[in-house]
Amino acid sequence: MVREEVDNMVEDMVIDGVGTEQKPSSEFPEGFNANYLKIYYGKLFPFADMHKWMSYGNDGKHPGCDQSYFGRREFSFTLDNDIYLRFQSFNNVAELENAIKEKCPFKIDIGPVYSVDPAKRHAYAQSGDNIFTPVERELIFDIDISDYDDVRFCCSGADVCSECWPLMTVAIKVIDTALRDDFGFNHILWVYSGRRGVHCWVCDGKARRLNNEQRAAITEYLHVHKGNENSLKKVTLAGRSLHPFLGRSYAEVLKDFFEEKYILSQNLFSDEERYEKILEMIPDESISSELRGKWLDNKRSRDDINVVRWGQLKHLLQSGKQKVQGIHRSVEEIVFSFTYPRLDLEVSKHMNHLLKAPFCVHPKTGRVCVPIDPKHCEEFDPSAVPTLSKLLKELNMGALGTGGEEELENTLLGKSIRYFRSSFLQPLLKSCKEEIESSYAAKIQQSKNSLSW
Ligand SMILES: [Zn+2]
Repeated sequence: MVREEVDNMVEDMVIDGVGTEQKPSSEFPEGFNANYLKIYYGKLFPFADMHKWMSYGNDGKHPGCDQSYFGRREFSFTLDNDIYLRFQSFNNVAELENAIKEKCPFKIDIGPVYSVDPAKRHAYAQSGDNIFTPVERELIFDIDISDYDDVRFCCSGADVCSECWPLMTVAIKVIDTALRDDFGFNHILWVYSGRRGVHCWVCDGKARRLNNEQRAAITEYLHVHKGNENSLKKVTLAGRSLHPFLGRSYAEVLKDFFEEKYILSQNLFSDEERYEKILEMIPDESISSELRGKWLDNKRSRDDINVVRWGQLKHLLQSGKQKVQGIHRSVEEIVFSFTYPRLDLEVSKHMNHLLKAPFCVHPKTGRVCVPIDPKHCEEFDPSAVPTLSKLLKELNMGALGTGGEEELENTLLGKSIRYFRSSFLQPLLKSCKEEIESSYAAKIQQSKNSLSW
C-alpha cells in the first residue's frame, strides 16, 4: 500500500517534468524539491516523537499535566519562495501533522513556549495587558564550521570535508562535557544542522526555565574567543593556571586533537603563509624570529615537518627561559585559537531565538538533520547522512511494507530515530513525569496545609 502511494506521488511529480523518459518509479535524482519533501512528511517525519518531546510529559492523564503547554509553543515555517510564517501553534499532534503535510515547509523552526498561545497574541495585546512573553525555552547552542574559516585551509564558507568536520566533533565533546559535569544537565540532544554545523538542545526543566541573564552567564562561561577579527590570536588565557573547565578541555580533548590530527590534516607548519599566522601569536619577538630562522632554513627531516616544527615551538616556549610576561600560556593559547568551540552567542543568550527542528531536511544538501550521539561523535560522518532522494529510493524499493512505526526503524533513518527515542526521549519523559508528579504532590500538600487551619 505504501509503495503504491509513493508510486502515485512520483507519477504526479513526473507529469510536470520535461521529457522524463526513464521509469520514474525507481529514479530519485539527488537534490531537494517540494515533491520529495511531501513524501518525506507523508511517510517518514517522526511527528509523534516530536510532539512527545515538545510536550515534556504534559500530554498524559496525570492531573498535574498542563494541557495548554504544547499549544503555547511557537513553530515557524519557511515555505517555498521564502515565505516565512511565524507564531504557528498547534493543540495536538494531529494539528501539527496536518499543518506540516499541507504547507510542506522547507524549514521548520522551533521557538519558545509563551505565556499564551502565540497564534492569539494579537487578541491578548488588544486586551490591554502585555502578557505575551516567552516563559520556557531549551538552552540552545549553534556551532557553524563557517566560523572557523581562519583556522581551516581545506574548505571555506558552508563547505565542509572530513579534514575539517572533526572541529565539530571537538566542539560537541567540550560543550557536552561542560553542560553535564559543570552545570549538571542530563537531557541534551545534539543534531546535525544538515550542512555546516551542529545544534545543541539542553532540555532539562531547569535549563528550559533559565531567564536571559542566566543564559548569557552560561554562554559567557563557555566562550573564550575574544580579540579582534584581524588577529588569529583570539584567545588570551590569563593567570597562573587554567580555569578547571578550560584545563580539562585542553588536557582531555583539545591538545591531543591539535597535536595528533589537526596540525597534520591542515599542514599547519608546512609553508610560510600558514606558520606565520602561528608565529604572530607568540608575544615574544625573539622567540618567533628564532623559530622563523630555523624554519626558513627548511632542513630535511625524516619526520613530518608539522610535527617537527610544533615540537620546536613548544620546546622554545616551554623551556622556562622566557622573560616576557604571559608567554607560558602561549602554547595553550595557540591550541585554543585553533580548536576551541566557537559558539554563535546570540542564539544561546535569548529565549526567543528560533532554531531549526531536528529531522528537517536541509534544502541545499537534501540531508536530514539527524541527532548525533555525543558518546560516539567521532563516528559521525556528515557525508553518510541519509539524503531525501536516498530515503525515497529506499521507500520505493518497498522497505516500508505496510508502513507503521516498527518498519520506520528499518529504514536508513531508523538508527537515528532509535537513538532519539531510547537515548534522549525516554529518559527525558521519565524525568518530566517525575517532576510533574512531585510538583503536583507538593501542591496538594500545600492546599491541605492551608485547609487544616
Ligand atoms: Zn574541509
